[in-house]
Amino acid sequence: MAELKLSESRDLTRIERIGAHSHIRGLGLDSALEARVVSEGMVGQASARKAAGVILQMIKEGKIAGRGVLLAGQPGTGKTAIAMGMAKSLGQETPFAMMAGSELFSLEISKTEALMQAFRKAIGVRIKEETEVIEGEVVEVQIDRPAVSGAASKTGKLTLKTTEMETVYDLGAKMIEALGKEKVQSGDVIAIDKASGKITKLGRSFARSRDYDAVGPQTKFVQCPDGELQKRKEVVHCVTLHEIDVINSSGSMRLFYGVERSMRLFYGVERSGINGKHALIPGPRWTQGFLALFTGDTGEIRAEVREQIDTKVAEWREEGKAEIVPGVLFIDEVHMLDIECFSFLNRALENEMAPILVVATNRGITTIRGTNYKSPHGIPIDLLDRLLIISTQPYTEDEIRKILDIRCQEEDVEMSEDAKVLLTKIGVEASLRYAIHLITAASLACQKRKGKLVEMEDISRVYQLFLDVKRSTQYLMEYQNQYMF
Ligand code: ATP
Repeated sequence: MAELKLSESRDLTRIERIGAHSHIRGLGLDSALEARVVSEGMVGQASARKAAGVILQMIKEGKIAGRGVLLAGQPGTGKTAIAMGMAKSLGQETPFAMMAGSELFSLEISKTEALMQAFRKAIGVRIKEETEVIEGEVVEVQIDRPAVSGAASKTGKLTLKTTEMETVYDLGAKMIEALGKEKVQSGDVIAIDKASGKITKLGRSFARSRDYDAVGPQTKFVQCPDGELQKRKEVVHCVTLHEIDVINSSGSMRLFYGVERSMRLFYGVERSGINGKHALIPGPRWTQGFLALFTGDTGEIRAEVREQIDTKVAEWREEGKAEIVPGVLFIDEVHMLDIECFSFLNRALENEMAPILVVATNRGITTIRGTNYKSPHGIPIDLLDRLLIISTQPYTEDEIRKILDIRCQEEDVEMSEDAKVLLTKIGVEASLRYAIHLITAASLACQKRKGKLVEMEDISRVYQLFLDVKRSTQYLMEYQNQYMF
């Protein structure tokens, strides 16, 4: 069973690695924001990449909150790739949320609620907290818990890997892990003897050994004999408004109070609320909240929950405990939105916490969904007027060849020079995306004939098997009277 799991997880990693944009690692710009010819998986499209880089720079300097960018261009010209490149260059702290316009129509929640959730996924809150952090190195410790009334003594080994950022909560969790079900009491003082590796609980825990059930973030760790393990430090946590919304709207959980409490939620310790005692992780409501976060099954979030959270966050900002980090919300196929969604976007962009909105479309002048009016890209003029427009251009043969080279590497496919020339020709004649798809198929054809190198014959074989749009249309024209109307 264990082995089965292992191979499953390997498969998963592979699927992720060869996703359509997995070769994109950034925008590939130099320090002057000029596009390098081939860099970070990006090829060509120099001016669009540069424009995206300038916008990124403005985001990093906090100058562009609440604006919008439209990536407009023909299908397969790298609009999504550029948005991915922006996301990769943003750094971990800046949230990046992504959705396709069509997703709005298949969710169980209303369109505007889905958009609101997407907006809040793209707004980060950087919360500063003073906490005790442990500085140290890996220490292997022996845990000795003396026999206490009704419970046998417990001995076990625990490896603590302490880093600067590790808080007492993390160590508390490790203690619990090592001790099994037995808990450390709130306010305990733990002594770690580095020389002998012995970990002992001091003070209250011995006196009130029956209270092993509760663990507290107050738990102190003291290194013996030199006692220099504790330090007060400012640690910074980044969460998105959406994460805070979801956790606080699940079940009957009340709005958390204060920075400290929010952090405890994220570290898995929840205050029971009755007598202020701290209980360890799996409070059912807490678990619900987190499950909802991971499954995305969050349902509608009530407006009053959001209002309370916004008020709380505003207070933290005033007190200097929190900062807002506007991230990026990317909406692909934006022409799929309808007039209600567009007016929502117009309003949402005016909020002072709004993220940067990056939208993409491959449509020209077309009908705005929900109306009888036509407009460029199917976007109403008033929204269009707020967007900086970046256009992407069709690729040259040389650029297509370079992108195909990168994709072959990404997919671990070895291809002969002739085959690459043929594939590039197909890319030019049909489309880049079609040519990219043929790489995997040709590699399978090659495996089937037990070859090592993908050759022209493999490419031609799959070219005949799978039609591109042009040939498929031609086929339809020829045989259309045999299809249903
Ligand atoms: P559509 O309008 O059909 O959604 P798009 O403009 O978003 O198309 P992408 O999906 O970004 O096009 O591009 C198609 C494929 O080509 C993707 O696998 C993408 O990663 C790759 N690609 C596109 N442009 C580049 C580029 N400049 N450098 C490297 N890879 C690229």
